[in-house]
Amino acid sequence: MPGFEFLGEKERAEVASVMDSGVLMRYGFDAMRKERWKAVEMEQALACRMQVKHAQLVSSGTAAITVALASAGVGAGDEVILPTFTFVASFEAVLALGAVPVLADIDDTLTLDPASVKKYIGPRTKAIMPVHMCGSMADLTALKALCDTHGLLLLEDACQAIGGSYEGKPLGSYGDIGCFSFDYVKTITCGEGGALITNNEAFYRNADHYSDHGHDHIGKDRGAEGHPFMGFNYRISELHAAVGLAQLRQLDEFLAIQKRHYTVLREALAGIPGLQFRRVPQGGVANYSFLSFFLPDDDTARKTHKALGEAGVDACFYWYDNHWHYHRKWDHLKQGISPGRLSRELKASLARLVAQDFSQSDYWMGRTISCLIKLSWTPAQLAERAGTMAAVVGQYCRED
Ligand SMILES: *Cc1c(COP(=O)(O)O)cnc(C)c1O
Repeated sequence: MPGFEFLGEKERAEVASVMDSGVLMRYGFDAMRKERWKAVEMEQALACRMQVKHAQLVSSGTAAITVALASAGVGAGDEVILPTFTFVASFEAVLALGAVPVLADIDDTLTLDPASVKKYIGPRTKAIMPVHMCGSMADLTALKALCDTHGLLLLEDACQAIGGSYEGKPLGSYGDIGCFSFDYVKTITCGEGGALITNNEAFYRNADHYSDHGHDHIGKDRGAEGHPFMGFNYRISELHAAVGLAQLRQLDEFLAIQKRHYTVLREALAGIPGLQFRRVPQGGVANYSFLSFFLPDDDTARKTHKALGEAGVDACFYWYDNHWHYHRKWDHLKQGISPGRLSRELKASLARLVAQDFSQSDYWMGRTISCLIKLSWTPAQLAERAGTMAAVVGQYCRED
């Protein structure tokens, strides 16, 4: 996944071009900036690559989700359904708006199970947020049908899946709004950064304003611009956009390497009795940022994960025990523990999560190991990794 492995001349040249003008901000300073608009350029390139009308860059993936939800009209007390397996950021973004995160179970896609989502749709539900964890997606056809039936927004957290597709559409472009992260460990990076994409004119306009204190960006004098509604500062800097622009131009090259490396590892593990790969729904193409597979049970998965680490196979994750990516270790979120008080209403809504039965999610997550696909492996390193993984997984993985 990490584009940081290939930071080099191209990124340096873009950053140097910004430093040469000295305009580190994406808005204004027209006379000084020598026609250099890195954020605008990256937005145009991203919208083009993702086959959508609009892209809005922001300061992080978390900001992208926050701005996307706000721009689509999600606010206090509105419920957003998201999966038990996601980075905490998706949950935090909902909380940031005073909206209520509702957790639904995952299935063998490692993303939202439409049948579980259906159970949690109620009068206050406003959006469904599938999270395309580890490079692949949920059954988006089924989720879209639920959204259409109940008049809900479909917001894709595609932070870990840039470059994947579903029914021929780039991930992030299938729903009403899609979000990407360009933090340091994502497929392409700005250092810190994020973006939302949409075909919805109103959502885009809201995002443009909301991410910059409500500025309507009309005219050439920031001080005189109007503020039709409030906003915050979720702006990206020109320096970050410059890095991202150079990275975005290499996205398809990175994806091709990921796919090649993924395929070698997958073929090495295929045929091990009792081992099952994560399901990619029909019509979906992963971005190959991780190879995820199921062991026969929790105990075997935990032992295999440990053995892989001891054998020198780094960057494999056992999410079930991870503090940041799975609901099991989210007591601070479920209890709304914060330096300052949350509203009583929000705390009460969160409390439901503490007692909720997540056994279906636990069933899949407890057996899952995900191995990060790196770009910089040499053919020899890749072959060695494939051999070691096959030996270790084969040793622990037996059909019961
Ligand atoms: C990385 C990530 C985010 C947040 O992105 P940041 O840029 O780190 O704020 C959100 N959701 C998922 C699934 C992520 O992996």
